Amino acid sequence: MSDRIEALQTAFMDEIIPGHDGETEFLRAVADVARDVLTVEKAHSTYTDARVLARLCEADRIIAFRIVWRDDRGAVQINRGWRVQHSNLLGPYKGGLRWVPGLTRSVLKFLAFEQAFKNALTGLPLGAAKGGADFDPAGRSEAEIERFAHAFMAELAAHLGPDRDVPAGDIGVGAREVGFMVRAWMQQARIWGGAITGKPLALGGSPLRNEATGFGLIHFAEAMLNEAGEEFEGKRIAISGRGNVAEHAARKAILRGAKVISLSGRKGVWHAPDGFTHNALDWLLETGGDAAVTPPQALGVEFRAGHKPWALGADVALPCATQNELALDDAKALADGGCRFLAEGANMPLTGDAQAHLTRAGVAQAPGKAANAGGVAVSGLEMQQNATFDRWSRDTLDHRLKAIMCDLHARLKAERAQCCTATGGIDYRRAANVAAYRKLADAMVAGGVI
Ligand code: GLU
Repeated sequence: MSDRIEALQTAFMDEIIPGHDGETEFLRAVADVARDVLTVEKAHSTYTDARVLARLCEADRIIAFRIVWRDDRGAVQINRGWRVQHSNLLGPYKGGLRWVPGLTRSVLKFLAFEQAFKNALTGLPLGAAKGGADFDPAGRSEAEIERFAHAFMAELAAHLGPDRDVPAGDIGVGAREVGFMVRAWMQQARIWGGAITGKPLALGGSPLRNEATGFGLIHFAEAMLNEAGEEFEGKRIAISGRGNVAEHAARKAILRGAKVISLSGRKGVWHAPDGFTHNALDWLLETGGDAAVTPPQALGVEFRAGHKPWALGADVALPCATQNELALDDAKALADGGCRFLAEGANMPLTGDAQAHLTRAGVAQAPGKAANAGGVAVSGLEMQQNATFDRWSRDTLDHRLKAIMCDLHARLKAERAQCCTATGGIDYRRAANVAAYRKLADAMVAGGVI
């Protein structure tokens, strides 16, 4: 980092920190963006005068509420819920709801801030929000999930609407939970409308929403490879995780002729030296990722307890599991094994020093806010279908998703003059922050001081 950038970042953070003291995740996300965009802000007097970045650091509002419900034993349970309505500059507030034990307001503020940048990059009219509850769905019966979802919406519904705030699922919240919540909204609002995305198909959900993040990740990674004059055919792909994003990224990569050599869980990695087939993936997902079950020999898969996917000699890495899953030692193993491309299916899966190491090693890295934007993008397409009472085919949706991810890549490439790596490639991390910032800044300036 140059001295000027460091001085700008330090002065900015000194101004921001007092209002958000102790909110570690939020402050790290702000510091990353500040490092990349403050020179752009300083170079435009309208942006400087409008104090764009300082305003982007404050959510429009944060709604906090309690949720009271009865469990199957008849006992009263109490949880806390939040909705961070970050910004509706570009469209209705938009972003997922997660139900995670120990969830805090600070984590949601960080995710809502990141969502503003991600949603801006899709090119769709989407504002930004994030929300959820400190509720643990693990081990709960379907009846308990339904009662909790209805109790959650008893408070939140008044703040939602197709033009106002449109949540979606996220960790712990899938189509079933969205179905319970969206019906509660419709009952309160007394209208039919797509006030939440990721709905079950039977309730107006969109085909391909389930696959969207994983498919979008492959469309984006393909654009990165093409930019370097390469393609997926024959490449060795290491994927971590075995959830929704990992599964659909793997399926799409196999269709592109790549060799998917890993998927992983908390206990270890499933390694397929010659690449997973669709059958092998089906087997893995059907066993529920039970590490104790030995893979049938014919599938060509072995389980390595306690290992991660990063030392298997991949050309392309797709971390799709969770925050901070890839640390410095993993980054060293990846670079030493010849990896040249990485695209984040998860949000912030690399630690800061892992990122720095891969940058020094010349590995092209696409940040989650660009590479995993396919999920929220297809949410935007679900909103369009609901607004026009229409339903599009899977092919039409995948075609549109691909166009969105390729346009997104082109938008980052357009920043290359200011955002290039030491070896002349695109600095995707900086380009994503700068491109999203410009979009938000232009909208903010056009609306005046409000
Ligand atoms: N939770 C997903 C994300 O973080 C999807 C959000 C949405 O579809 O609104 O991007």
